[in-house]
Amino acid sequence: MSWFSKLRDSLFKSRAALSRVEELARERRPLDAAFWEELEETLIAADFGVETTEKILESLQDVARKEFWRTSDQAIARFRTDVAAFMTRPGQRLQLAGKPAVVLVVGVNGSGKTTSIGKLAARLVREGKKVLLVAGDTFRAAAAEQLEIWGQRAGAEVIRGREGGDPAAVVFDGVSAARARGVDVCLVDTAGRLQTKVNLMEELKKIRRVIARELPDQPCETLLVLDAATGQNALSQASLFNETTQLTGLVLTKLDGTAKGGIVVAIADRVGVPVKFIGVGEGIDQLQAFEPQAFVDALFD
Ligand code: GDP
Repeated sequence: MSWFSKLRDSLFKSRAALSRVEELARERRPLDAAFWEELEETLIAADFGVETTEKILESLQDVARKEFWRTSDQAIARFRTDVAAFMTRPGQRLQLAGKPAVVLVVGVNGSGKTTSIGKLAARLVREGKKVLLVAGDTFRAAAAEQLEIWGQRAGAEVIRGREGGDPAAVVFDGVSAARARGVDVCLVDTAGRLQTKVNLMEELKKIRRVIARELPDQPCETLLVLDAATGQNALSQASLFNETTQLTGLVLTKLDGTAKGGIVVAIADRVGVPVKFIGVGEGIDQLQAFEPQAFVDALFD
């Protein structure tokens, strides 16, 4: 199966939630208030969010007036192009600058951080890179153990510290080991206990400072992992992290099995940071580089 068919399959629930959009096009209805209302309701139900939905509809209505469109098929055709354009941002590819390149991965517990790191490691190893995983979550022994399992699966080495130790110290050890061993990419897992928000954010800042000190001449990718199935809640998490950590990219997980696929559009619109990867299953090869147009094509039949 091609990656596109896999993407299409994994988005089946969101596609079902949005099937009305294609019906609206096929019906070739007049562009009256009832049509716009129905489109609006469909998008909101698929978690596009009120603000993003309104933005999309306003711009569509504007073009519809200027270009004298008469029927719904015209509006929906343009809608699909608009949504893809909406999600396209500079820097959508992972930037791996310097050796070792460092990718810091943040997000609340359960969002799919460790799993995404494992999948990303496997991708990079397949591309011929030497990868090192750093267990920056020192609070849960289980987190480091899980990372070790992913390391074995992916073919990447793992550095872990003492349980309860300083995460920044583990990151320092990780970067030093990466240098000594000629590693290409260092993927850093972090703790995600949101209940201690201030501490968590301070800890992330400290980790960033260590990386900046050790590798002063290179930018560091900071990816926020968000569970797409939490819908609009993912949006507030993104704003929270973005306030305190300079995010460079987003990973949206668990898009398989949720009807809330519109959240990807809302997040791309509202957060101002590109979506770089999407998780479409629990398997090691179920992390895809995010392609806005393919995503739209897979979302709408
Ligand atoms: P962490 O606490 O953020 O490190 O989260 P984990 O990586 O441990 O993931 C939490 C759960 O989500 C695990 O059961 C994963 O298998 C699952 N998970 C992660 N990504 C995906 C995904 O893309 N699709 C599905 N269906 N499950 C996922």
